[in-house]
Amino acid sequence: MENIKDKVVVITGASSGMGAATARKLAKLGAKVALAARREDQLKTMVAELGENVIYVTTDVSKRADLDNLIQQVIAKFGHVDVLWNNAGIMPISFFEEGLVDEWDKMIDINIKGVLYGINAVLPHMLSRGQGHILATSSVGGIKTSPGIGVYSGTKFAVKAIMETLREEVAQTIKVTTIFPGATQSELGHDITSPKIKAIYGNLSNMPKMDEDAIADAVIYAISQPGNVTINDLVLRPLGQT
Ligand code: NDP
Repeated sequence: MENIKDKVVVITGASSGMGAATARKLAKLGAKVALAARREDQLKTMVAELGENVIYVTTDVSKRADLDNLIQQVIAKFGHVDVLWNNAGIMPISFFEEGLVDEWDKMIDINIKGVLYGINAVLPHMLSRGQGHILATSSVGGIKTSPGIGVYSGTKFAVKAIMETLREEVAQTIKVTTIFPGATQSELGHDITSPKIKAIYGNLSNMPKMDEDAIADAVIYAISQPGNVTINDLVLRPLGQT
């Protein structure tokens, strides 16, 4: 695989799902990987499994200072950051009439502010180096919406708008990629509390789903491109998803 060895890649939401799958593949390809998430036990286990080119920094992306600390720690350890993937996200979906406003707040803080804080933490560093690559995870829910996913979908439309604007602002020097996954095997949705959603979707286990490695391969495709090629949007759906 071209252009991956020794690349310094920071991944938020790296303790499970597509973030963890991508970190595992990147580490095997010789990248230097920094894992960020809140569950320290998971991150520690992964570092033990993946070896000395992988570090973790316990991070809550809803806290601006945590993202600043993450980028500082990675620069202190590896010297610079080549790639930041703002991937952390949650999906406690519900219908508006249920009024689960605390969950709306959490989705906005993690899914939107988390991406903004990541961009803010790394952008001056990348601009001063005159190179870098920022990715974020939106969703097929950031392209189309449906009843019951309004706030989640709103956060993912916001990610799309933020990333597209960032792309236009920094197009001369920095690569910007937005990933739009369809339904993918992961822990996402484990925090759904809405009785209405649970009644309609059950545990969502009968939906067609992609393996998390499909997303990992797409992310690695984007970050392994030659220096003058930038992949901006990647939409992936499992066969059968509309
Ligand atoms: P997982 O639930 O397996 O992974 C989510 C990751 O985000 C975990 O590592 C979790 O770690 C982390 N995270 C959650 N909250 C925070 C926080 N406050 N600070 C730091 N990290 C946090 O699900 P996926 O891998 O599926 O999700 C990854 C991204 O993909 C999300 O943005 C999701 O919205 C998006 N997505 C997923 C789809 C799917 O079908 N799975 C489809 C479309 C988009 P921890 O709890 O340790 O903090």
